[in-house]
This record gives sequence, C-alpha cells and structure tokens, in this order.
Amino acid sequence: MPQSVIQLKCYCNEYPWGKQGSQSAAARIASKTPGTEFQIDESKPYAEMWFGTYPDLPSYVLETGENLQDLINTNPEHYLGAQVLNKFGHSNLPYLPKVLSIAKALPLQLHPNKELAAKLHEKEPSNFTDPNHKPEIAIALTDFEAFCGFKPLDDVAALMQLEPLKQFLPWGHKTTSKFTDQTLKHVVHSMLSASEETVKQVEEGLAALPVQAFGKHDNIPSLLPRLQNQYDKTDNGSLVALITMNYLRLAPGESIYIPADGIHAYLSGDIIECMARSNNVLNTGFCPRADRDSVDTFCSVLSFTPHDAKEAILPATPYKGSKSGHSSVYAPPMSEFDMLKTNVPSGENEVLAPVGGPSMVVCTNGEGELVVEGRKVAVKEGYVLFIRAGVEVEYKASKELELYTAFVQ
Ligand SMILES: [Zn+2]
Repeated sequence: MPQSVIQLKCYCNEYPWGKQGSQSAAARIASKTPGTEFQIDESKPYAEMWFGTYPDLPSYVLETGENLQDLINTNPEHYLGAQVLNKFGHSNLPYLPKVLSIAKALPLQLHPNKELAAKLHEKEPSNFTDPNHKPEIAIALTDFEAFCGFKPLDDVAALMQLEPLKQFLPWGHKTTSKFTDQTLKHVVHSMLSASEETVKQVEEGLAALPVQAFGKHDNIPSLLPRLQNQYDKTDNGSLVALITMNYLRLAPGESIYIPADGIHAYLSGDIIECMARSNNVLNTGFCPRADRDSVDTFCSVLSFTPHDAKEAILPATPYKGSKSGHSSVYAPPMSEFDMLKTNVPSGENEVLAPVGGPSMVVCTNGEGELVVEGRKVAVKEGYVLFIRAGVEVEYKASKELELYTAFVQ
C-alpha cells in the first residue's frame, strides 16, 4: 500500500554568494538530514538546500533512494490528490521550497511571466529550462536584507535630481518633465546599459555627496561601499538597486512576496523560499557581465509591483486549518502554493486539518513526532517529510518544534 508520509533526502548546493561553512543555515540543515552523508566543509560557500522534484537538485526517498517524482508518478492521485491533478494537468510537484543562505547580493533579477517564459523556453531551452512562471516568497529565518520592487515614483524622481544621476533621465540635464513609470523604465534601462567607466564615475560622484543630499534614503551612502566590495565599482546593479528599489530589513518570521516580473535582489540572511515549479530567471546585475541576460528583454517585462516597501511585505495570518493555534499561514496572491510556519512548544501538540494537495515539511529546530493515520514518524531538526494529499497531521513536540510547510490545494 502506498504510504502517506515519506521521509526525504535533500541536498545543498554551492554558489559564490552562499554563506561560508557552518554559518550557512542551508548547510547546517542539510548536514542534519538523515541519509545524505553531507558533511560541512568550512572553506565552501553553501547557498541553497532544495526540497522538491525539480531535476536540477531533486529529493529522494530516504528508505529506498528512489527519486520522489518517480514515486509520485506511480500513483499521482494518491500522492497529489485529484484536485491538484485537475488544477495543474500534470503530476509534477507544483512548488519548490528552498533554504537560502546569503552572504552577498544575489544577482539582480526577475522571473518572467508565463507568456514570456514559454517563449524563452522554446527559443533557448538550455537556459530557460521550463515554460512556467515563478512567483516566490521569502520568509526570514535570521535577519534578512533585500532589495525588492521599486520605490514610490516621487522618491525616485527626487533622487534623480542628484547631479551625477541626471544623465540617466530621458531629458538629461534639461528641464524636468513629469516622472512616470515609463520614465522609471527608461532610467533602469539606461543605468543597466551604462559602461563600466560611467558606473564608476557616477558612484564616485554619489560617494562625494553629503548624506543629507539623499533625503530620507540616507542608507544609500552606507550601502554603496558594501555593494562595491561584494562585486566591484563597475556593477550596474548597484545603481539600480540603491536609487530605484526598496531596501528592506526583515526580522525572523517576516516575509516578502515577489510577483512574476517583479525586480528583486536578496542581499543577506538565511531564508525559507518557496516558488512555483520553475527555474527561469533573467539576471542583469550583481553578477559577471557574461552571465547577464539582455537588458532589453529584462526591461521589456519589468513590472511596477510592488512600488513601495509596504507592498512587498506578505503578512502571516492565523491558519484556519490549525486546531491548536500554533501555525500561521503565508498566502501569496496568484501562486501555486501557501506556506505554513508551525511552532509547537515542548510538551504540546498541533493538529492540522487535511488539505486537498501534497505538503512538503522541513523541520528547522527541535524534536518530536508526527502522527498520520495512526503511524508515528520521528521529526527532528534537518528532517524533511513529504505528506500526501487529504490526511490529518498531528505534531507532538518533546523539544520545541519549528516546522515550515509548503502546500497547495
Ligand atoms: Zn528570485
């Protein structure tokens, strides 16, 4: 008989932007995941631990070593549920949760909408590996800094009056016109297309200004040298991020949502990220020039949501499916998944009502057990569990449990 709870082996990758050795939450969690035999090398930057069935870094069944997607394909209705199969029309796990550990800025990026993703996938399948969109959420595990969406137009317009930046305006140094989203698009395009020499000169010009010149965005003078040290003084990403984008600092448990076509660049911290099943990305800054996608393509799809730091925040709300009140839900609009954060105090329990689709759970702290259909499964920091659609789940904590669950229904 097919099982309802599957314990998984999941792996961690290395990227230059990842956190070093055991400073990386992704590496620490992966090193505690049974069956992976993963040992932390303190000299390596560990970036992402993936929990899903995307072929780049898939999860495997601990007991048998089978690829999770292969197991799901043996009985999609049992594992995913009829509702989810009908909704998506395929048996792939529709979402991809990850733990990210970020020591320096990730590439300045956006994830194309479904229409463009399908076009890019057809033209360049090796670079755009699926035809799907990729809305994503990021929940802070530790203090988390990110650039996300655009500042309000008035704020950008005011900053663009700084002498070194006027050259990026469509009207240059001449008299000003009304600053609109189209002006902003022009500014982003011209900042991204600027030569290394221009970027360097503009950044020198900005660094020479008194802090008061930046008005309420007085964090720019301190962020500029940080970004310059991470990449170099000629990276176009610094100008776009500092002048046009919202800079956010999140405390553990706080979350942001990035819609399709939304500009973002994560700067530091450990996060739980969840996205639709896709790996499509357009990069334009905070990466070597050779790795950048076309500025024209990037700017052609750029959306203006969010357009304020507040709009980027995705608040957690009490989860209705929780019987003991120890879970909150992050529910991004228009996406393939919701995310739960569950904290069960020592000696207590939490019962979660059945959902119409599959759940993927990672335990980030504590110890206890999970009971599904009378079967008990140990849960501990680093354990990753796949739970099939339609079953009630009970957690009992012997040591305060912290769990993150991606689900769909
Ligand atoms: Zn992203």
